[in-house]
Amino acid sequence: MKKIIIAIDGHSSCGKSTMAKQLAKEIGYVYVDTGAMYRAVTLYAMRNGMYPDEGIKEEALKAAVDAGKIQISFKFNAETGRPDTYLNGEKVEDEIRQMDVSNRVSPIAALPFVRALLTEQQQAMGKEKGIVMDGRDIGTAVFPQAELKVFVTASARVRAQRRFDELMGKAQTQAERDALNYDEILKNVEERDYIDSHREVAPLRQAEDAIVLDNSQLTREEQSAWLLERYKETVAKC
Ligand code: C5P
Repeated sequence: MKKIIIAIDGHSSCGKSTMAKQLAKEIGYVYVDTGAMYRAVTLYAMRNGMYPDEGIKEEALKAAVDAGKIQISFKFNAETGRPDTYLNGEKVEDEIRQMDVSNRVSPIAALPFVRALLTEQQQAMGKEKGIVMDGRDIGTAVFPQAELKVFVTASARVRAQRRFDELMGKAQTQAERDALNYDEILKNVEERDYIDSHREVAPLRQAEDAIVLDNSQLTREEQSAWLLERYKETVAKC
């Protein structure tokens, strides 16, 4: 069967990665979470004193990017059934999901030199097709030629609740559970949507030829079934 590129874009915490990952598993495609790549760059900046409270030290970060000091890779984890993210050879999958990274990632993702670096890597990953990639600009900037484009959204409150539940499920200790705050998560989701949609380079927006899915009222199973149908329709037309 002909291999295609599937681009899944949308707002923060709308379940894109869950449905993208599930589809990739079902149809034997590679799954790439591009948000994890922006999160890994953010973690690098934070760890190296390039993102103090006063703001990003752009020159220092650009020098690190230009010197190839930020290497991001993925390795499939058979236990979780999903790829783990690695930064310079170290597994950072859990750290990049923490709130301190979520609170800083969108300004990093707005930097043109960061987008140029990651977009190039993402395009290389999709050269052979057979890929499901999720993010904010996959259907508009990374793969404008993707055969199937989906734009996912849901109300901010529904998305914040999902992210809260997900982080609660992952928390290991009572202290970690106590630190989680729904209002803070809602604020983060809304702020990221705003910054992502208003940046100059590759802002979050629906591609003209994307199919829109508002999944506020859908279960995970319903979303996955919906996406699988769209995939089948698309390959049948190719
Ligand atoms: O998908 P996730 O919520 O993990 O993405 C984290 C952040 O990375 C987003 O809020 C956005 O700022 C940035 N991002 C992006 N372009 C992508 C994927 C993510 O700008 N393709």
